[in-house]
Amino acid sequence: MQKIITQNSKQTEELAKLLAMEIRGGEIICLSGDLGAGKTTFAQGLLEGLGVEGPYTSPTFAIMKEYEVNLKFQISNLKLLKVYHIDTYRVEERDILELGWKDFSGKKNAVTIVEWAERIKDIVPAGALWIHFSWKNENEREIRIHSQENS
Ligand code: ADP
Ligand code: MG
Repeated sequence: MQKIITQNSKQTEELAKLLAMEIRGGEIICLSGDLGAGKTTFAQGLLEGLGVEGPYTSPTFAIMKEYEVNLKFQISNLKLLKVYHIDTYRVEERDILELGWKDFSGKKNAVTIVEWAERIKDIVPAGALWIHFSWKNENEREIRIHSQENS
């Protein structure tokens, strides 16, 4: 488990961009933590780091946003085509299953980012990357990166 404190939203985005450099395709990135803890900020940094062109909007109302990766911005050995950004705040596991979760999550040429992933933990496969966000004060957030939920 790795624990990082960020002092502002830019640092949270930069941390996400570092993670983006490690992505090889097929990852499921689970973001947990309360409202305002920084999940969407982190997801937007990831999208940018992965070569997805904005604007990025929070999927809270759409449940899921599907982005195409602009191959121009991609390092050559990566063939990442899609990024799925999901927010489960207003829905349940069965709604996510109905969106086609089993088909798109873990696709080799895609990355799946899930906000409020603790709400659907029973359908998240082992091997997903879990990142927990907690609010420390107005500008500080504690970010804990786990390789498995609860580890
Ligand atoms: P969530 O998706 O978890 O509800 P958001 O990323 O939408 O959270 O909101 C986080 C809010 O906190 C934003 O308004 C952001 O500007 C602010 N903020 C302040 N400090 C930080 C920080 N260190 N990391 C991330 N966001 C921060
Ligand atoms: Mg959010």
